[in-house]
Amino acid sequence: MKTDIQIAQEAVMQPITEVAKRLGISSDCLEQYGKYKAKLPYKLMEDLKDKPNGKLVLVTATNPTPAGEGKTTITVGLGQALCKMGKNAVIALREPSLGPCMGIKGGAAGGGYAQVVPMEDINLHFTGDIHAIGAANNLLASMIDNHIHQGNSLKIDTRTITWKRCVDLNDRALREIVIGLGGALNGVPRQDGFMITVASEIMAILCLANDLMDLKQKLGNIIIGYNTAGEPVTARDLHAEGAMTTLLKEAIKPNLVQTLENTPVIMHGGPFANIAHGCNSIMATKLALKLGDIVVTEAGFGADLGAEKFLDIKCRKAGLVPDAIVLVTTIRALKYNGGVAKEDLKEVCMDALRAGFSNLEKHIENLQKYQVPVVVTLNAFVTDTEEEISFVQSACEAKGCDFATANVWEKGGEGGLLLAQKLIEVLETKPGSFKYLYEDNLSIEEKITCIAKEIYGAKQVAFEPAAKKALEKVKALGLSHLPVCMAKNQYSLSDDPRALGRPQGFTTTVREIRISAGAGFIVALTGSVMTMPGLPKKPAAEVIDIDDKGIVTGLF
Ligand code: ADP
Ligand code: MG
Repeated sequence: MKTDIQIAQEAVMQPITEVAKRLGISSDCLEQYGKYKAKLPYKLMEDLKDKPNGKLVLVTATNPTPAGEGKTTITVGLGQALCKMGKNAVIALREPSLGPCMGIKGGAAGGGYAQVVPMEDINLHFTGDIHAIGAANNLLASMIDNHIHQGNSLKIDTRTITWKRCVDLNDRALREIVIGLGGALNGVPRQDGFMITVASEIMAILCLANDLMDLKQKLGNIIIGYNTAGEPVTARDLHAEGAMTTLLKEAIKPNLVQTLENTPVIMHGGPFANIAHGCNSIMATKLALKLGDIVVTEAGFGADLGAEKFLDIKCRKAGLVPDAIVLVTTIRALKYNGGVAKEDLKEVCMDALRAGFSNLEKHIENLQKYQVPVVVTLNAFVTDTEEEISFVQSACEAKGCDFATANVWEKGGEGGLLLAQKLIEVLETKPGSFKYLYEDNLSIEEKITCIAKEIYGAKQVAFEPAAKKALEKVKALGLSHLPVCMAKNQYSLSDDPRALGRPQGFTTTVREIRISAGAGFIVALTGSVMTMPGLPKKPAAEVIDIDDKGIVTGLF
């Protein structure tokens, strides 16, 4: 069997001008980055503003095994399949972070015969967006410390600074550091730390900005810490937002690339799915809706996190209305949720499959609360048996859900035709009546409780003292109207990653509350959330290599 990178390297790509032409974009409107990548200029959205939007389809998943269940693979394969059927489908995806590529998870451009290319470029530096975000983030950090060094007229209390530096690599040694050592010429010493760039609030802001001026406004709103009177100090107070926006003037433009079958993909922004909302930029999705009749997009993690945040944060901020949701599951994820150990997932075990179905069932019920039609798709593995597949199919249909298997990993668009057919049927015959889970006017506590009870199935929510104190601050700052961005492990509906399936009667504990005033959401942390990953014992970076012809190996 070929690896993802082998398949990607055998792809016959078309010049990006050809891909653009089929979307009605002329080559003089493209800002090309080499032959196969381009940025889409600001004026394109302006030119298309009166064109009606296409249909919006969200791809999400059940709680995964540690290997990932194929949301990106299905998103790409479904886009390919729709185009094969003659539909004008556009895929909107996040761009991958470099850290995980060098670590354990590998790239994030799909898999098998459902991938986005050029795979190496996309997974490495792509068009430089993430580096630009790092530069804007670190500019603000340097301006904070310079301000303190130059006399600290804003009276920033250095112990309250929450703004960290960032780099797009996994580097645990940078989590907690001391800066400003070496005497008076080197600034004022204080404790600091790094996060991975995709966890920076700037990434979330870029993805939630509606345009360049909105980006500047939101960057100005970032709270970097507090002054000695306990009042917030913003990036605007430091006069940083103009230069930060300038550094992001190219990064804010969505990128155009293609699938293995030369169909269009807009890839833009890639916020973490824990302390941020985990979906591609609003600008990319909105542009895709103008360019395509059907837009297929993905949200990170399982539906309890990814779909909830897509629907309650991104759709709310952008005024987007999804027309259908594709819920991805795998036989192995259901068995894993039914109690089978990671090593034994290849064995057939109908009892575990039946038990694990409770997880899928809960996600179906959750998504139905948003009143958007749901299609369940089984991402087929070559090891799946007929008996297993037909069990999942009948159980889904008994829940009033449409169902189709997808073989896109093995067969590309061809393997996604059943799913594409089913989706089109749903889009044509089942209009949704989308509604958010909660309204803006609830308090942050009430919003968190609503998500925990309705989506996770919690019996109650406990707020630890630090969280309670922070909630008072949110209230005092007049930010209670903001949506909540939940940070939780992705494996369980509860905050205990070992409680698989459909846990009942549990308490969700909120440990900490963070204010992302720039992005415009309040982060609620349950359990510990990593914002700077480490490398594993044997990092992927040890096997990545390049030969004398420039051919890359070892990326996956
Ligand atoms: P997610 O987006 O849910 O994290 P991905 O689509 O990135 O998942 O897939 C995770 C990994 O699983 C990738 O390496 C991909 O190649 C592999 N994969 C996905 N679907 C299949 C499948 N049907 N059979 C075998 N491997 C698959
Ligand atoms: Mg993915």
